[in-house]
Amino acid sequence: MKVPFIDLDKQYSNIKSEVLGSIKKVLESQKYIQGDFVRSFEDKFCTLSGYNYGIGCSNGTSALTVALRTLGVTSGDEVITVANTFFATIEAIKEVGAKPVLVDINPDDYLMNLNLVNDAITENTKCIIPVHLYGNPVDMTKLKEIAKKYSLYIIEDCAQAHLATHDGITVGNFGDLSTFSFYPGKNLGACGDAGFITTPREDLANLARMHINHGRTAKYNHEFYAGNFRMDGIQAAILEVKLRYLKDWTQNRIIAADYYSKSLEELGIKKINIRKNNFCVFHLYVIEVDNRDKVQKYLAECGVTTGIHYPIPIHMLKACEDLDYKEGDFPITESAAKRVISLPIFPEITTSQQDYVVEKLKEALQI
Ligand SMILES: *Cc1c(COP(=O)(O)O)cnc(C)c1O
Repeated sequence: MKVPFIDLDKQYSNIKSEVLGSIKKVLESQKYIQGDFVRSFEDKFCTLSGYNYGIGCSNGTSALTVALRTLGVTSGDEVITVANTFFATIEAIKEVGAKPVLVDINPDDYLMNLNLVNDAITENTKCIIPVHLYGNPVDMTKLKEIAKKYSLYIIEDCAQAHLATHDGITVGNFGDLSTFSFYPGKNLGACGDAGFITTPREDLANLARMHINHGRTAKYNHEFYAGNFRMDGIQAAILEVKLRYLKDWTQNRIIAADYYSKSLEELGIKKINIRKNNFCVFHLYVIEVDNRDKVQKYLAECGVTTGIHYPIPIHMLKACEDLDYKEGDFPITESAAKRVISLPIFPEITTSQQDYVVEKLKEALQI
């Protein structure tokens, strides 16, 4: 048996005619950039999750950069984020000329340790970027209290957490601005690159819209240097089709995650903790094992593809040498990087595929 890490073939074959129909509509209308298809998707994504304002953009990384620019974050400013995230979170902070300040993670869920945020705040701190990693929300209630106390902005990085909730509120509703990725492998994925920005504030929405489109509101009235980070009509039309399935796909991920959790219980394997007031959407199903590399190799030999999120902590990356951190600065992140492994999870995974993964994992742990 072969179990892929994610099966986009299966997803496509289930919705093929709708996807092709949506592309045809765009081709026949010639509305390739922004326009009606993007507006329509923006409205529907906002309605589904309760966002006041939403702006389609080119990808999840540009969404972060645009969000930072919209808040005026620039050189001399510090932005607090987490050592266990995808590189893009840090890249965006560097892109606007600000300084990324990292904090370590909780040992039970590998999310930003909010008890460490206070100590990371200086007079230059302007913004905090929590990352809802693996689809599991950061405690936004607590983080908002900290941000309020020190008058800091929050940008939620929701790239892995479409439809996840904390205290019954969907992520992307807590931050001054929030960002999403629709990279094909994300819980809601385009057929190419795409991203999204949400905000509760009309003024920020208008400004973000200008930042993704050459600093303008009308064709030639450029008010500041900005760039081009727009969403394509074809991606929006495809995303609107897939959005109709997102709730069901999310439910299937949760069912699959529960099935893994039950099956793995007897093996005494450590999995990520989901707090009671969180609705986790399991972009990834992450566990911790000894001899991780050996386990991964054995699973690969048996046809089971796994992932590691992430193998090199941000502060240990060559690109991030300039941040002046060193090994030992974020011990929980460093230990997780050596021990975590992400099992195959996607809405279409079958129980027999999951049984096979668990059986092979059991064998891997014995060698
Ligand atoms: C995927 C991802 C991004 C970047 O999104 P792209 O669309 O690939 O640019 C940013 N942050 C996190 C946490 C991600 O997982």
